[in-house]
Amino acid sequence: MSNLESEPREAVCGGRAEVAGEPVLELTEGREVVLGGPRSMKVTRTLPTRGRRMVGAWCFADLYGPERAEMRVPPHPHTGLQTVSWLVEGTVLHRDSVGSEQLIRPGRLNLMTAGRGIAHSEESLPRRAERAPGEEPGVLHGAQLWVALPGPDRDVAPHFEHHPELPVLAEPGATVTLLMGELGGEVSPARAYTPIVGAEVALHAGARLRLPARPDFEYALLGLAGEIEAEGAVLSPGPLLYLGTGRSSITVTAAGPARVLLLGGEPFEEQIVMWWNFVGRSHDDIVRFRKEWNSGEGFGAVHGFNGDPLPAPALPSTRLRPRGRVR
Ligand code: MN
Repeated sequence: MSNLESEPREAVCGGRAEVAGEPVLELTEGREVVLGGPRSMKVTRTLPTRGRRMVGAWCFADLYGPERAEMRVPPHPHTGLQTVSWLVEGTVLHRDSVGSEQLIRPGRLNLMTAGRGIAHSEESLPRRAERAPGEEPGVLHGAQLWVALPGPDRDVAPHFEHHPELPVLAEPGATVTLLMGELGGEVSPARAYTPIVGAEVALHAGARLRLPARPDFEYALLGLAGEIEAEGAVLSPGPLLYLGTGRSSITVTAAGPARVLLLGGEPFEEQIVMWWNFVGRSHDDIVRFRKEWNSGEGFGAVHGFNGDPLPAPALPSTRLRPRGRVR
């Protein structure tokens, strides 16, 4: 999906300043963002927020649904990041400027590496034109996540991966599906550029699970469905529970059926500048990406989408500079 805000603000993210040097429990409720359009979809955005901008290289987290809604995101660009699309319910068609056309369904991973620049569109199915008169759209429920690329890899050639089969850790009362990185001896086939982990943890009623953790990673849990308790904190769908660093395990329990995403990684030392759908290292990068996209250069065309691409909105008048270490 895309950041469809009409007046997005520039955000400086990354660096050590926000990384907790110890285990913490910090609940971020996030904010509701409306993604435009006639049947507009509401999402809960928990990254970046004022207090928490990144967890490892994870730099953007939107949760949507479950609701009957139509997602129709026209071609738009990305730079310097990977988009991770994960569905709990629904079907979404992805098309991009490197020629990919891929349906994503629950339990399968779409991973798009923007690198130096890519454009894509996303539409939930069935489309309005394919539904009977008066027929409601289908139920959509999922998460859209972005992973920042580190300096040496931020200009890699854009590419797209679809992983219908992912490693699964079957535990008593729980199923853990590994999206990115390593967990419990399993390794995801998805290409990652920093030490990272992303996993969906599905718990049956009454389950208690001890997830392995690395003390040098920071972690967070994003609630998808049902309620869980993690290390003594209660997490419902929508908010993000930041767990800090210094943990060798994370214990989660659920009274009823529940589902959460585990996000973690080595703290992202570099500072990045995020604006709209771009990740760069400076305001000037953002200005250049925006200009290239709006002039139709450098990102390639998305074929098959019935409609015009999304123009980049106006840039804010304030300019931000990354602080600290910049590669
Ligand atoms: Mn997008």
